Amino acid sequence: MLTYRYVNLVFVPLSCFLIIGYFTVNIPLIFLFIVVAIYLSLCFVGSAFICFGFYTKAICSGVHKKGKSVFITFDDSPDKKETPLVLKVLQEHDVKATFFIVGEEAEKNPGLLRKINESGHVLGNHSYSHGNFFPLRSKRKIIEEIKKTSSIIKSVKPSGVDIFRPPFGVTNPLIAKAVKQLSINTIGWSLKSRDTVIKDKDKILVRLIRKTKPGDVVLLHDRVENIHLVLDKYITFLKKNNYNFETIDKLLSNE
Ligand SMILES: [Zn+2]
Repeated sequence: MLTYRYVNLVFVPLSCFLIIGYFTVNIPLIFLFIVVAIYLSLCFVGSAFICFGFYTKAICSGVHKKGKSVFITFDDSPDKKETPLVLKVLQEHDVKATFFIVGEEAEKNPGLLRKINESGHVLGNHSYSHGNFFPLRSKRKIIEEIKKTSSIIKSVKPSGVDIFRPPFGVTNPLIAKAVKQLSINTIGWSLKSRDTVIKDKDKILVRLIRKTKPGDVVLLHDRVENIHLVLDKYITFLKKNNYNFETIDKLLSNE
């Protein structure tokens, strides 16, 4: 598999060779530029697409599991207005999901965090601040954020939390080192609802129905207004098509 470690093992010596070659036997500089451009492109793609497992191994689907399962996940949880409606829909359908918690939001809504846990859903860590610059923070700060949210989750679920989804799904060498140090599992997704971008709720539903396949880890956001209406129809569709509903913890033992 193409990983950051292997790419460095090839590109660092190759770049050194081309630099030395430029100064000693006049190897044209353009070759060095091409190598550096390829290296930077790989690093960028590896950062943007968590499921490539470029910097750190990420669990992105349950396609290897037997049966017809779907893993519904919510990011940026909890939200004062939408989360209670999402929980109600899940309860009506008797479906369990996985919620990735933003520590700062959970502190504002402790009752909701407790309710998600008491309703039997799985809690995951989604950083403390979910700041736009999270991927650019130092390893110390990244660890601090993950630990802070884990301790907030621990206040309602004493057994703690062992899954982490990085904000925006972006990974880099520092995030990889942080999750390794904390021995926490990195979680991605295989089906993006694009609910934060697509405004028309019917289009989100059509997209999910069209793309869902067995084993999918589906990414939704319970901070998106009226996403519970999409969820209600989506679950109805999945049930009609004999899908089972599982939570992310079920994927950990199979990895
Ligand atoms: Zn997020």
